Amino acid sequence: MTDHAVSTWVESAQGSDFPIQNLPLGIFSVGERRRRAGVAIGDFVLDLVGIVDLLDEEWRDDLSQPVLNAWLARGHEAQRALRERLAELLSDEQYRDDVEPELIGQTEVRMHLPCVVGDYSDFYVGIHHATNVGKQFRPDNPLLPNYKYVPIGYHGRASSVRVSGEPVIRPNGQRKAPDADAPEYGPSRRLDYELELGIWIGEGNELGSPIPVAEAAEHIAGYCLLNDWSARDIQAWEYQPLGPFLAKNFLTSVSPWVVSPQALAPFRRPMPPRSAADPEPLPYLDDAADRQSGALAIQLQVTLTTERMRRQGVAPHVLSRGSAEAAMYWSAAQIVAHHTANGCNLQPGDLIGTGTLSTESDSGLGSLLEISRGGRQPIALPTGETRSFLEDGDEITLRAWCDGEGAVRIGLGECVGRVAATS
Ligand code: CA
Repeated sequence: MTDHAVSTWVESAQGSDFPIQNLPLGIFSVGERRRRAGVAIGDFVLDLVGIVDLLDEEWRDDLSQPVLNAWLARGHEAQRALRERLAELLSDEQYRDDVEPELIGQTEVRMHLPCVVGDYSDFYVGIHHATNVGKQFRPDNPLLPNYKYVPIGYHGRASSVRVSGEPVIRPNGQRKAPDADAPEYGPSRRLDYELELGIWIGEGNELGSPIPVAEAAEHIAGYCLLNDWSARDIQAWEYQPLGPFLAKNFLTSVSPWVVSPQALAPFRRPMPPRSAADPEPLPYLDDAADRQSGALAIQLQVTLTTERMRRQGVAPHVLSRGSAEAAMYWSAAQIVAHHTANGCNLQPGDLIGTGTLSTESDSGLGSLLEISRGGRQPIALPTGETRSFLEDGDEITLRAWCDGEGAVRIGLGECVGRVAATS
């Protein structure tokens, strides 16, 4: 139903992030009305509660919830069936009279987090990012010896995961200049973003029952953009010996739409070949099918607008253009398998960040830490302003999309955040 030949009677879908081949789910509200599930199509959100009579009766309870946890817990079979039904409703003219009144302009709705996030973990699988950051500390030996064996991650904080658009309040914290004797407390001076993909967990696993790597893809309900806002000065002082804490957990932003593995299927690619010097993945992380199709050809872009740029009507400044395909040393399936390898249980609606996705070349770096070389090479903006890190009023927009031969372009939408002064 959702192959490239299918088209919809929703005209704005053509060429948008949300053609009929995408059909991502999200949670929206209009005015003071209750939150509900919707699907993005062109410039619209289709209200799933409004068309619930046209859907399988068995799905109604789960699709009528104000969050998607229960629906996503049903797994891929239900996701595929809903997707096929939605494609039918949006392509077949016979349903148009019933469905069209349930389309609401995306500019008229407010988007919310798609799930109650029980847990959020962030990985570090962007090998070029890990290398670039490592070089700033250890020029000759940027990657630590565990990197090519272990998908490195840490537990983040679920309560501060917010949907795109939430203001980024500059965090206070302890920061210590390298030449200072003691730290000071105050607003971060090295506020940064991190361009990442987010992975939404569908079906979970029981405590003590690892998810084998060959089954891991079935537990992934979808993908989004994720911005792991980071205060580099707080991070540098606090991270040893237990890793990131207050430098990261003041806010994590995600794009609102859950883009399904089914929509992304045409854009799967073989994992990038490992260099001959690299170890093979240990058997619990190795799967032939995942080697063949574990990489995602998702194009990534980050733009910055400052307050002055907005005032002067200057177009957003492109900070980077890259791709997830060659950036991820470990696949999403390997991330899930590793996360559960010790028996740790994932639950429906859990969120996992990939880690910052930078390209090998300088045109696709996923953080200001890398672009400004740790603050030593500020970037010049069209207004004459310069930036090493983010100033109050700066707005960062992450965008992602997929295109390829024989496939209709789809987009993940946007993840936006504007920095506000410390409260
Ligand atoms: Ca991160």
